[in-house]
Amino acid sequence: MKILADTHTHSIASGHAYSTVDENMRWAAEKGLQLVALTDHAPAMKNTACHAYFANLHVLPDKIHGVRLLKGIELNILDFDGQVDMDETILSRMDLVIASLHMPCISPGSRKENTTACLKAMENPFVDILGHPGDPRYDMDYEALFRVAGETGTLLEINNASLIPGGFRDGSRENIKTLLRLCMEEGRPVVVGSDAHFYTGIGDFAYVEALLEEVGFPPELVLNTDPQRLLSYLGKE
Ligand SMILES: [Zn+2]
Ligand SMILES: [Zn+2]
Repeated sequence: MKILADTHTHSIASGHAYSTVDENMRWAAEKGLQLVALTDHAPAMKNTACHAYFANLHVLPDKIHGVRLLKGIELNILDFDGQVDMDETILSRMDLVIASLHMPCISPGSRKENTTACLKAMENPFVDILGHPGDPRYDMDYEALFRVAGETGTLLEINNASLIPGGFRDGSRENIKTLLRLCMEEGRPVVVGSDAHFYTGIGDFAYVEALLEEVGFPPELVLNTDPQRLLSYLGKE
């Protein structure tokens, strides 16, 4: 499988990531990627980029070192009503919007509460991708997640960082497999993201690729193998 797009990356602006946009894009070009989404953490995460950072993303070119740059954001789901930490004016200008559950911003609730938080976030018309579903710290009804993702057109992300053994979302594997099997049954596309917090992680999908192979997931259902198809799915050119 040739993955040509990375839809989940962080820069130093996130506060706990270590590379600049230029370093990220230079590496992406060297790796042969055609598209990278810059998705720094939204303001509810401590020490991340402020509101003005996202408002000003338009100063970045659409291509850097020959690689298409999508200007995005990784929102924090703040509560069990699926509230997120950026206003609609800014979200409407983003090329790509991920919404994720993060421990510093929302403590795990009951299975029903965690599931509702994600379902409501996916119902937000600005949210394109549900980031790293499968985190075992948030008990979840994956059938419901899959169903509503289909209804809202939200893409489920297969996140490389979630699959790192001993990583902070260790234990995601079986939950991700459940989602992959559901997607396969219905021929539903997914996205893959490195969630890199240092430039050398960009385009590194080693764990994702091994898992996709293990479950026999069809490469054509991974939108990142076809940047043009990914862009049209997102309603971008
Ligand atoms: Zn995240
Ligand atoms: Zn992230």
